[in-house]
Amino acid sequence: MRSHYDVVVIGGGIIGLSTAYAVTRAAPGRSVAVLEKEPALARHQSGRNSGVIHSGIYYRPGSFKARFALRGAREMVEFCAAHGIAHEVTGKLIVATTAPELPRLADLARRGEQHGIPVRTLGVREIAEHEPHVRGLAAVHVGTTGVADYPAVARRFAELAARDGAEVHLGCEVLALTRAPDGVMVHTTAGEVRAGVLVNCAGLHSDRVARMAGDEPGVRIIPFRGEYYELAERSRGLVRNLVYPVPDPAFPFLGVHLTRDVHGGVHVGPNAVLAAAREGYRWRDFRAREAADIAGWPGLRRVARRHWRREVGELWRSASKTAFTAAVRRMLPDVTRNDLVRAPAGVRAQAVRADGTLVDDFLFTGAGPFVHVLNAPSPAATASLPIGREIAARALRTLE
Ligand SMILES: Cc1cc2nc3c(=O)[nH]c(=O)nc-3n(C[C@H](O)[C@H](O)[C@H](O)COP(=O)(O)OP(=O)(O)OC[C@H]3O[C@@H](n4cnc5c(N)ncnc54)[C@H](O)[C@@H]3O)c2cc1C
Repeated sequence: MRSHYDVVVIGGGIIGLSTAYAVTRAAPGRSVAVLEKEPALARHQSGRNSGVIHSGIYYRPGSFKARFALRGAREMVEFCAAHGIAHEVTGKLIVATTAPELPRLADLARRGEQHGIPVRTLGVREIAEHEPHVRGLAAVHVGTTGVADYPAVARRFAELAARDGAEVHLGCEVLALTRAPDGVMVHTTAGEVRAGVLVNCAGLHSDRVARMAGDEPGVRIIPFRGEYYELAERSRGLVRNLVYPVPDPAFPFLGVHLTRDVHGGVHVGPNAVLAAAREGYRWRDFRAREAADIAGWPGLRRVARRHWRREVGELWRSASKTAFTAAVRRMLPDVTRNDLVRAPAGVRAQAVRADGTLVDDFLFTGAGPFVHVLNAPSPAATASLPIGREIAARALRTLE
């Protein structure tokens, strides 16, 4: 590792790597390093997600999410095609299974049209033509949704950035940050390095890194574990492509869905269970300091008060496979408990404000030599190319 870089990025997930790639393209003369604490890239959110290329249908017009997802979905398909990365534009169904969901489904169809996304509303018979085993009162078919191998995309960003001179350091954890006259001194497990600008893409740890920088981010990352099952091989025929429920507008997660991935497997999940550790992939993963830090944030108590009913349901479905199966059977009545096999979980880095608001949009902050990415939830993998360019532009403006 050199002693100085113009841009140091913390985090070898898809966002940090896309940022490094974008910096090398926008400013070829600038030196860039990515510091990643794990021994390999994309070990956290970027390697533990649903693998969906989101169309952008869900997002409020004018939000970062809408802007980046619409453009990002197109770019992701082009990028995967250009670099030989497994992907497919499959389309998906959003299915209403109860009468109260019908107006929300109609709202989604209208929003899709506003965004210029190819959407079609389907009745019971047409649902069966797309997905013979799925039951619903009505559905919206979204033409531009797909699936991609995001860990492979992240690795390709790293290769492209490295080809243009960026360095990626694995097993290099950032422990502390101090201000230096011309930037930031970064203290890591592999030694010290100076950065002209420090870009914080630390995902589940991004609020901690912001506090290391002496910035109070005004949010805390609350980890929400998303548990998955997969359909046993003999039952994969129950689902052709992607099937989603109508999301609860009060909650920023999309609900348990059925996703045929790029390798032919079908994932069922994720739920959204409060985790007791930032990297709490299993129930037994508990870190006393992290749990105390999370529990001490006033926003968490407010989230708990607002969403306790829903969270109790999520915990129950997490603890009981029978309850999880029953929830899936609302959309897929032929599925049985024995068709579902446990699969690895992911943990979402959800930023929560002190007043208990779950931050819905992407959140970038930073002053002086710091750019912090404090909320990069789904569809950030889909939108990683335009998000990387946005963060790179902020970093380069800071340098200038
Ligand atoms: C269950 C789940 C399902 C999802 N489904 C989808 C989907 O279908 N489609 C979609 O578009 N998006 C989806 N997402 C969202 C998407 O995966 C994330 O938005 C995206 O991966 C965020 O990338 P990131 O680089 O910000 O974070 P991460 O991938 O978490 O990367 C952050 C990196 O920072 C490193 N790091 C942290 N602290 C330090 C430190 N101190 N020093 C050095 N390194 C550090 C970590 O080890 C990690 O590798 C999903 C997310 C989850 C969890």
